[in-house]
Formats: sequence, structure tokens, C-alpha cells
Amino acid sequence: MKITVIGYGIQGRAQALNLRDSGHDVVIANRKDKYLTKAIEDGFNVLPIEESIRNAEIIFILIPDAVQDEILITHVFPNISEGSSIIFAHGYWLNYESKKIPENINVFMIAPRFPGEQIRKTFLMGGGVAAYVDIVQDYSGNGDSIIKNMTDSLGFSKGGVINLSFKQEAEIDLFIEQFMAPTFFASAETAYELLVKKGYPEEAVCLELYFSGELGAVRTMMGRDGLYEGFQKNASPTCQYGVSSSRSALWDEDMKQKAEMQLERITSGKFSEELSDHKYASKVVNEFVESDIAKDIKRTEKKVNKIIKKYL
Ligand code: NDP
Repeated sequence: MKITVIGYGIQGRAQALNLRDSGHDVVIANRKDKYLTKAIEDGFNVLPIEESIRNAEIIFILIPDAVQDEILITHVFPNISEGSSIIFAHGYWLNYESKKIPENINVFMIAPRFPGEQIRKTFLMGGGVAAYVDIVQDYSGNGDSIIKNMTDSLGFSKGGVINLSFKQEAEIDLFIEQFMAPTFFASAETAYELLVKKGYPEEAVCLELYFSGELGAVRTMMGRDGLYEGFQKNASPTCQYGVSSSRSALWDEDMKQKAEMQLERITSGKFSEELSDHKYASKVVNEFVESDIAKDIKRTEKKVNKIIKKYL
């Protein structure tokens, strides 16, 4: 099929390569910016967005969620042909802006659960990663077969295809990002501050907290074996007792209310409103990654990097 992939970043590159290897005629749409050269080096024809989609049967939207609205409204919708299909890798734009979709096109979500590197790696190994799919608008009436063709071509059919509405996909994903990830940052920062203040060597604290890669390895094992089985198979008896006896003491009703508060921020649209103000969002991120504690931790990470060798 004639496919245009808009964006050649984390998802764009992996998906474009898989689709081309599966026999499709793939072109890349990218502005004259840093990722353009990579697409050309990989042997793709790179065109301006408008030109790339005029003849496309399928268009993959693989640019960051926060810029999708502008690109779709300005470049894609005015030039797209009747009966073509747009495929999103995440339900984010759809969740907040789907009223803007023209009536005479197909729209699908194929949302892989992994970054591009694993998507490409598993494909080359003859497998694939799992993905959520949703038929959002089936103008041509053959949405099922288009999704099947694309998930087969991307390798996702081998990893497992699960039906999930774009709304739920977007909200679950945002919730994990806005509840579990900040909780991890907060606990790492708090532990670092406390232990260093009490005189423990900062390099050892940093290494122990996350920098050795052990934590990532444990999470990978939990992804393979299950949350509790992974824990019981891989943690020492001392660790198992330490975790089991502390869980309730650290997590009370207050945290459940905070979880609800974060979900409400997403479902009410407040989060997307904030994110669409690019200047405000980047100011908040800069303040976070340049805070006093962040600077302290980054300084320690540099010291640790001089001492240990990482092979991960
Ligand atoms: P990336 O940040 O890797 O996308 C980078 C690409 O977007 C580059 O080609 C870049 O081009 C282009 N781009 C960036 N800003 C603009 C802009 N303003 N106008 C035009 N092009 C722009 O994104 P991801 O691959 O991470 O995400 C793509 C989609 O996939 C999103 O919907 C995301 O939610 C979804 N997704 C991502 C996953 C992941 O692991 N990252 C997992 C599952 C889904 P250049 O800078 O050269 O202009």
C-alpha cells in the first residue's frame, strides 16, 4: 500500500522500517530539521507533508502529541484524499480533538506498548510487540482488514492485539505518567536528600537508588514474571519482608485521594489545556529538571559515571 509516515523520531523510524520491510511503498514527511537526514540515510524518499499525503492510502501520525493538532489542521486535513486512512499511535489527540476529523476519511488507533527500539528489534527477530487498536471512524467500511494488514506489517499481530477505545487508552497512559512516574521521582528525590543529609556517600546513594540499572532490571522481570512472582523470584527474603511489612505504613487513604485527583485532572481536560500552552508546559518541565535537588543529583551522577562502567 502507499503509506506516508509523518515524523521520523522514536516511533516513526521503527514503524516506517517495519512497514517497508513488509513490502509497502513508504515515504516520510518531515520538515527540514534534524530527523530528515536520518530518514534520507535510511534510504527513504522524504517529502513535504502536503505533497506526501496527496497520493497516500494510509497516513501514520508519528509526531509528538502536543504538535499534532497544528499539523493535522494546517497540513493534513486540507490535502487528504477521500477514503484515505489516518493512523494514530496514541489516543491523545483523538481524546480531546476528534470533532475536527473530516467525515470522508478513515481513522484508526494502533498504539504499541513499547518504544521504537523494541518495535524494530522484535520485528527483526521475527516477532512483535503488543498494541491496542481502535476503529475510530470507518468511512470505507473495511476498517477491520486495514487494521489487520497494518498490525501484521508492523509485527504487532505477533505480539498481541487488544481492542481498547482511544479514550481509555489515552487516559490510562496519562494516568500512569502522572501518578506512577511522579511518585517515583518524589521518592527517589526524598530518599536521596535524606540519606545524603544523614552522611551516606552520595555516589552510593545514587547508584543504589536507580543508577546501577538494578531497579530497571527488576521492573523488566516483573513485566515478564508478574508483579508478585517477579518480586518473590528475584528479591532476597530480607527484601521481601522489608517490602511486605512497609507497604501499608507508607501508603494510606491520602494517596488514594491523590490518585483520584490525578485522574480527574486528565478526564476533566485540565491537563490537556495546560499542555497546549507550549510556553507554560516547557517552563514547568525546565523548573523540574533544573531544580536544586535535580542539579545535585545530576552532579552526583557525573561522579558515579567516572567510577563505574555500564554495559546496559
Ligand atoms: P518523537 O518526539 O520521537 O517525534 C519526533 C518526530 O516528530 C521527528 O520526526 C520530528 O521532526 C517531528 N516533529 C517534532 N516536532 C514537530 C513539529 N512541531 N512539526 C513537525 N514535526 C515535528 O515522538 P514519538 O515517536 O515518541 O511519538 C509519536 C507518537 O507515538 C505520539 O503520538 C506518541 O504518543 C506515540 N507513542 C510513542 C511511544 C514512545 O515510546 N515514544 C510509545 C507509543 C506511542 P524534526 O524534529 O526533525 O522536525
